[in-house]
Amino acid sequence: MIIDCHVHVAAISGPHGFTSKRQLNTLPFRFMRWRLGMVGSDQNTERQIEAKLVETIEGTPEIDVAVVLAFDGVFNDSGQLDIDNTHLYITNDYVIELCRRYPKMRFGASINPLRKDAIAELERCAAAGAVLIKWLPIVQGFNPSDRRCFPFYDALVRLNLPLLSHTGGERSLIRLNDEYADPQLLEPALQRGVTVIAAHCGTRSAPFEADYFDQFVALLQRYENLYGDTAALSLPARMSVYEKILKDPFVRSRVIHGSDWPIISFPPPVRVGPLAAMELMHEKNWMRRDVLIKQKLGFDQKYWERGAKVLKLSATGT
Ligand SMILES: [Zn+2]
Repeated sequence: MIIDCHVHVAAISGPHGFTSKRQLNTLPFRFMRWRLGMVGSDQNTERQIEAKLVETIEGTPEIDVAVVLAFDGVFNDSGQLDIDNTHLYITNDYVIELCRRYPKMRFGASINPLRKDAIAELERCAAAGAVLIKWLPIVQGFNPSDRRCFPFYDALVRLNLPLLSHTGGERSLIRLNDEYADPQLLEPALQRGVTVIAAHCGTRSAPFEADYFDQFVALLQRYENLYGDTAALSLPARMSVYEKILKDPFVRSRVIHGSDWPIISFPPPVRVGPLAAMELMHEKNWMRRDVLIKQKLGFDQKYWERGAKVLKLSATGT
């Protein structure tokens, strides 16, 4: 079974969550909306994005299942939602509903560990079929090495749920604290036995940012419960890491497939050659283009099948 472990959906306003005006007006969001042919910024836009997601997954026959990610907000020290600092919020219930409607989708829950009801929400999501928990600490505003996260880690181990945590840079979303990008902050989770997937393998998303790939590799050597995903590695700032991953059998053996749709995928021209790069650009479905790029780069069958194993997914359900 082949999965894409890292796929986004959007909520604009209403019961499914919201995207702030400031976030909607950022350049990356305007570009994505334009490229996906979205107009407006209301619930109708949300339906269009949902339809696009369904069409995209259906148009990627190489993938059996896509893990669609909710996105929790920022929480203050008393564990309450901090609306002013939350620019993107996609409820777990929305993704649960999508997974009920679309058999190729699986539930990637998102729970800020600082929320008052974090463990109760984790248990609720596990019961609703969550296959992983997604975090983006630099945007959601918490330090994964904070002691307040420890009970959450113990609950993840008890419920046998992996943690997909963003590591490295991020330019598409409004960030609160870039210091939380370092994968080494996930050590307390690893020490407690949580299966952690470091999204983007700690890579930078812009040339002037810090890159944590070496720290990620050092952690891989120390913790066998750590993996990395290849989400958004087909972006120009990150793609040089393909070389490092592919030439190192040890690192290769610990990465799983993710696209980060609707982030665009570009083929690395130096590695695939200019002709193949042009051909790959003809694939307009970015989720599928990302698969074709990674096939062309030479990721082996074990790579494609590893995600389902790490997430313990089977063809008959979760
Ligand atoms: Zn992502």
